[in-house]
Amino acid sequence: MKYLYGPVLSRRLGLSLGVNLVPRKVCTYNCIYCQLGRTTLRTLQRQQYLPIEEILREAEEVLQLHPQGLDFVSISGSGEPTLNSRIGELIRGLKDISPYPVAVITNGSLLFMDEVKEALLPADVVLPSLDAVNPAVFETINRPHPDLDIARITEGIRDFRRSFRGKLWLEVLFCRGINDNRDDILALKRAIDEIEPDLVHLNTVLRPGAEDYAYPVSEEKLRAIARQLGPKAVTLATKHEKRVISPLGPLKERVLKSLEVRPQTLEDLSHGLGIGEGELVQILEELSTEGKVTSRLFNQRIYYEALTNS
Ligand code: SF4
Repeated sequence: MKYLYGPVLSRRLGLSLGVNLVPRKVCTYNCIYCQLGRTTLRTLQRQQYLPIEEILREAEEVLQLHPQGLDFVSISGSGEPTLNSRIGELIRGLKDISPYPVAVITNGSLLFMDEVKEALLPADVVLPSLDAVNPAVFETINRPHPDLDIARITEGIRDFRRSFRGKLWLEVLFCRGINDNRDDILALKRAIDEIEPDLVHLNTVLRPGAEDYAYPVSEEKLRAIARQLGPKAVTLATKHEKRVISPLGPLKERVLKSLEVRPQTLEDLSHGLGIGEGELVQILEELSTEGKVTSRLFNQRIYYEALTNS
């Protein structure tokens, strides 16, 4: 598979087939916690970064292998998918061929643009992120393209909500000491109340990211923030509930593709790909010998990640 990956298990979407719309790593932000590492092209330039016809052809083939058992087809991947100027065509194309609902995971930074709002309307679920509304905190955590303005982004998400008929699930990711103080949370609450999302997923740093100083907040803190933000705020559970066996591709390639999307522990990989841990250890050793995968200790757990040039 060139443009699709998975199926992967995630805490928000269950088991989903991932669709990548931009090369690694093209984004409007350079978040300190990004699991893909630092942004190599931070841009606001919308263009066809990856070819939509080929992506749809690949999706059609892969979906035939999964006539049932998935929860979503999710558009996300190696950067910000709304930077692909043909994302609207892709969503409509996927809706025609997919028995599963289509979700778009976005940082929401371009939703102030009418053409981006319009493009995302046919999706079933849109999951924008909003980590901070205070400009200084936004700069610190998301390190946005210099022409982006958080007030305009927040308004864009709010306006999109007004016209979008699907579900809007906002995500806020908290980094300890960066966007978790009382004033930040109060300001976020005001913005969230205006946006009126269906749900607010509260998350923290669970995997190694772009910067070592992006530390997680505790689960207790996350629960306290949820109480402050109100009934729509839910903390994301940490346990995976499903396990499936996927017929996709040779095992080694599937493991590598999955690690290219995000760093994972042995347990994550085993649950997500339906491969036994013993077999996975052998595959990871081979990939590591070939210089394609490395490991690092984070929060007392060992994470495997794909090396960018593999
Ligand atoms: S976390 Fe998302 S929005 Fe932030 S830099 Fe990574 S891909 Fe971009």
